[in-house]
Amino acid sequence: MGTGAAVLRLYPGSAQPSLEEPYVPHIRRVAMFSVHTSPLHQPGTGDAGGMNVYIVELARQLAALGTEVEIFTRATAAGLDPCVELAPGVLVRHIDAGPYEGLSKEELPAQLCAFTHGVTQVWAARAAGYFDLVHSHYWLSGHVGWLAAERWGVPLVHAMHTMAKVKNAALATGDTPEPAARVIGETQIVRAADRLIANTAEEAEALVTHYDADPRRTAVVHPGVNLDVFRPGDGRRAARQRLGLPADAAVLLFAGRIQPLKGPDILLHAVRELVDAEPALRERLVVPVVGGPSGTGLARPERLQKLAVRLGIADLVWFRPPMAQQRLADWYRAASVLVMPSYSESFGLVAAEAQACGTPVVAAAVGGLPVVVREGETGRLVDGHDPADFAAALRPFCHQPALVERLGAAARRHAAGFGWAATARDTLEVYRAAVPGCAVTGSGLRSAHG
Ligand code: UDP
Repeated sequence: MGTGAAVLRLYPGSAQPSLEEPYVPHIRRVAMFSVHTSPLHQPGTGDAGGMNVYIVELARQLAALGTEVEIFTRATAAGLDPCVELAPGVLVRHIDAGPYEGLSKEELPAQLCAFTHGVTQVWAARAAGYFDLVHSHYWLSGHVGWLAAERWGVPLVHAMHTMAKVKNAALATGDTPEPAARVIGETQIVRAADRLIANTAEEAEALVTHYDADPRRTAVVHPGVNLDVFRPGDGRRAARQRLGLPADAAVLLFAGRIQPLKGPDILLHAVRELVDAEPALRERLVVPVVGGPSGTGLARPERLQKLAVRLGIADLVWFRPPMAQQRLADWYRAASVLVMPSYSESFGLVAAEAQACGTPVVAAAVGGLPVVVREGETGRLVDGHDPADFAAALRPFCHQPALVERLGAAARRHAAGFGWAATARDTLEVYRAAVPGCAVTGSGLRSAHG
């Protein structure tokens, strides 16, 4: 890839992913759009979360398979390098579109023309046929991708990541619904895209039932887990020692963006129920909450801290700012259980990552979580969002270290099936199917996991 002299290299020399089976792709170069959040941002707060991780990991693995990726994202700070090489074969382009700071995601539809203008300027310096395909992420990017793909005469592959209609159907009490403009925008992209990629069969079905997507153009590709970063390592006890957690603690971990949609308040209410029923548990209960405010949670960033105080459990809840995945892995390892009481979750990467570290999960039975967590085998799936039900599901993990170890071992085996290399291979099949006249090989587009 012609990176030019102005490119900042971020990767260490040895970071290129290795793959056992070389793949000869028909797709040489993909333009990816991630308008509202940069793959270079720290996930776990604000607009940066699973989608950022998804784009970074997918792009790296695609590049390792021989498909170069150029990711276009909106510049959100002054002085950013216009082009950054994230990994060999993966570039991030910062596009000027609106002020660097102070624009919320909800205000970005007004900047899509400016963003598209920036993209076409980059493209104008390219030879005809430079990109073979456009892959857009989230509906805002879909609108830029729609125009770019048509202008460049290449297929558009789109991934929603989340859908307004699905989110609005399962809002937390008092949470703000997604606006009608987003629903309209998503509906337009479903019509315009040559292929849609869904995280799970359930998401594919939602695309068909809520947005009238064509099932023949809708493929299921599971996200993955970086199994080099998320692994049991030297185990729970050593991780606890490093983090200053008592060896015999009952550690109920929440990790991710703090917003009503993720239901962290349900965990806090459940903890209150646990200590009310068994005051002695207070002595060894720790509830780490890793992440920062996001989405509708930004309106009241102190809400969760205040709730912990109001419930009389502030001494048990350890708030930690968002952190790099290498450090987060230690919190997963140290936990007795990862708790994910979300109202809506298109996949739930943190549940997969915790399991890869050998930690069971207690999650709401919503969205992709029943694919990520095997009920009774790698954790527990809770119907509804009643804190009493979460307390009942969590109690055994507070008292039975053998249960934590048994389900944790099964969780690790289950998560080992979610590598990003497989995600990239399946995505390439979708790309190839989107190119007119290109034959699809392999086992087809539907995932083995359902
Ligand atoms: N994450 C992180 N640091 C943190 C908290 C979260 O890197 O402090 C990452 C986490 O590893 C995961 C992603 O953020 O890959 C969250 O993805 P998930 O699918 O769980 O939720 P989303 O953000 O997509 O709603």
